[in-house]
Amino acid sequence: MTSTASWANSAVLTERARVTIPGGVNSNIRLAAPPVFFERGRGARLLDVDGNDYVDYLLGQGPNFLGHATEAVTEAVTAAVGRGMVYGAQSPLEVEAAERIVAALGWAEMVRLSMTGTEAVQAALRLARAATGRHRFVRFEGHYHGWLDNVLVAAGGGAPGSLGQLASHLTDSVLVPWNDADALADALNAHGDTIAAVIMEPVMINTGSMEPVDGYLARVRQLCDEHGIVLIFDEVISGFRIAPGGAAQRYGVAPDLATYGKAMAGGWPVAALAGRAELMSRFGTGEVNHSGTFNGSVMAAAAVIATLDILAADPPYERISEHGAALKAGLVDLGERHGVPLRTQGLPMAFHASFGSPEPVTDYRSLQRLDLASYSEFAAMLARYGVWVARRGIWYVSAAHGERELTDTLERVDRALSDPAV
Ligand code: PLP
Repeated sequence: MTSTASWANSAVLTERARVTIPGGVNSNIRLAAPPVFFERGRGARLLDVDGNDYVDYLLGQGPNFLGHATEAVTEAVTAAVGRGMVYGAQSPLEVEAAERIVAALGWAEMVRLSMTGTEAVQAALRLARAATGRHRFVRFEGHYHGWLDNVLVAAGGGAPGSLGQLASHLTDSVLVPWNDADALADALNAHGDTIAAVIMEPVMINTGSMEPVDGYLARVRQLCDEHGIVLIFDEVISGFRIAPGGAAQRYGVAPDLATYGKAMAGGWPVAALAGRAELMSRFGTGEVNHSGTFNGSVMAAAAVIATLDILAADPPYERISEHGAALKAGLVDLGERHGVPLRTQGLPMAFHASFGSPEPVTDYRSLQRLDLASYSEFAAMLARYGVWVARRGIWYVSAAHGERELTDTLERVDRALSDPAV
């Protein structure tokens, strides 16, 4: 691509979509994205309906960890669904998928599949309440746990994130700053005997890509044990992405329950709740309900098996990290050359970019010191130059990103930074 993209066909589709689809999108997060319609995804590239090609660092908000349309996954799912898709009963594939997940995680003993991370989170909270007989949970500033009433909040805070959501839906949660063990200790001392669960993104990728400070997760684990609280890691982003066993493996701290999705199934809609048998077996006795017509469908189980087989046979973690590290450094270098304070931080496979001081940020409040609004405009502009990224700053790297994508991306960002609008 030599000039900026023209989106004539996308514009026609946008008009048409807005007539029958509210906002023209099926998920509100896409309202903020440039109005582009895609024809195809292949590897680390997207092709839109106007023939423009993009290097994709959004990965569908994370699921395309292996790249788009990974053949081995597509073939496995296609072969499996030829024998039917949903039985309303078990298939051997479900057992294989569960065994693969438990083996990859290392710390968990049992697993239930669902369709979305949102549902897995709700199952985890319900199970924690059932196990403890308590009703509240602790959550953290800037962490995202899905779009349902008891977890959706307005940007980082404790207020409802949507009209139609009652403030009373949020009164059962206690909001605490993350990466601050003393703040958690204080909250648990004040409310401990009412708290069923502490739920967190163990590495906060959704908002700023921040790692836990040294010793933080271990202290959280200890505090939960002292207060008889179920520790839930929401690994919907980090699971299978930052290591096969996610953050629990990387930081060496096992939760009681954890939720997974995205990277686990090569782009297919599958999520999971995994955990200790003592807790998870309560679903099996029927005491605690967890249901779903499509849970553990043939395509879901086949996609998980094929994806985890690829991750085990040819682990892409080092490659992805190297690409992400080179990209982070390249972006910062380009920013310096153009006199723009482009900064990056976080794990290379899912890092955060913004404008602002290069000093690392360690929690939601310090993130607000950055110029997130100007960066968001820049990220939207990058689409015109052939780089598809989230406006909120996350860059996801996949196993399909190679040298060519790195070169193309840096060349395109270079041109975008020369745009008079930056
Ligand atoms: N938890 C985390 C950490 C997430 O990032 C997300 C989605 O981005 C969810 C839960 C909800 O998952 P889903 O969108 O599949 O419902």
